[in-house]
Amino acid sequence: MLDLSDLPVVDGHCHPLLTEPWAISRERFLDLFTEARPRTMTAHVPHTGYFRRALRDLASRLGCEATVEGVLERRRSLGFEGWRRMLGASRVAALLIDTGYPAEAMPLDEMRSVLPCSIHEVFRIETCAQGLLARALPCEEFLGAFQDELRAAARRAVALKSIIAYRSGLAIRRWEPAEAGRAYREVVARVTAGGSARLAEKPLLDTLFGIALEVCRETGRPLQVHAGFGDPDVDLLQSNPLLLRPILEDARWAGVRIVVLHMAYPYAREAAFMAAVWPAIYVDLSLALPFLGPGAVAPLTELLSLAPSSKLMYGSDVGALPELFALSADWGRAALGESLRGLIERGGITESAARHIGGQVLSENAATLYGLPG
Ligand SMILES: [Zn+2]
Repeated sequence: MLDLSDLPVVDGHCHPLLTEPWAISRERFLDLFTEARPRTMTAHVPHTGYFRRALRDLASRLGCEATVEGVLERRRSLGFEGWRRMLGASRVAALLIDTGYPAEAMPLDEMRSVLPCSIHEVFRIETCAQGLLARALPCEEFLGAFQDELRAAARRAVALKSIIAYRSGLAIRRWEPAEAGRAYREVVARVTAGGSARLAEKPLLDTLFGIALEVCRETGRPLQVHAGFGDPDVDLLQSNPLLLRPILEDARWAGVRIVVLHMAYPYAREAAFMAAVWPAIYVDLSLALPFLGPGAVAPLTELLSLAPSSKLMYGSDVGALPELFALSADWGRAALGESLRGLIERGGITESAARHIGGQVLSENAATLYGLPG
């Protein structure tokens, strides 16, 4: 394996800490290692590679027995000083935090005060739109308020993010304002009657996505787009990033940089192809990296073989507990190091090129794309 342990990571897509990360129940802890609905896979999670690796690795870092009870007990007394040491040792330099999930989480300012790395905001557009529904504005005004919120967010956040893949899919198209308006009025009627604010109406979501693209074009902020696997809410067929082609071929959005999240796994080959032919497409490696562990080496090798290394970016998609950022960073470096070692051995690249690529993927590409302070 190529040793990349001295290289810092920018975690390009992850989530906030729990409000009290030292206090977590056994069930909630198990749920952190599955994308299944809460409490539905408790019996099976201990039999996954992700959980096994995490438990073994956490136990060795904490110096305790490799059992859930052992780890939970030991970490309760660790304190932020211990977590700061872990993140420092794993060279976690920056976290780009999608604040759209979970609803109850530690505020970013508090995270800044307890963690040793820099913290940047990623602003989720659908959560923003849902927050505006209760005002029951006329549709035009609602869309204007949404655009204003995105513009304000773009001033402080490093990127916008969309989870439209989870709601109506990535086959985003143009709708007549009347169609979006009709969908909007139905939603407002539902919310006003005490129903769910969860937006799933395609004409409205596609319209909001178009507004987000406009704000990204105006402000130069990249747009992170969920693609590929996730929790069972996702219709995987509709989260194939190839469905974004009409947007990529539309001259209006030529300058907007889109980050396809999660390696788009299992559509990693599609993501590699897209990064190779559309200048606007970048690929984030989060979720796939900690989840697949050593299994990430194969898709990483395909990505590195086809896509420019200037467009691949490390990410974890973890959150909740500080030590998970450290675990994922070390595993991500290891998988990348193994993949690069294989490419060196097959004569694809030199050792020094591989080191350079390691630096690009782990931190440099993200620093450039998101304009992070140096
Ligand atoms: Zn995420």
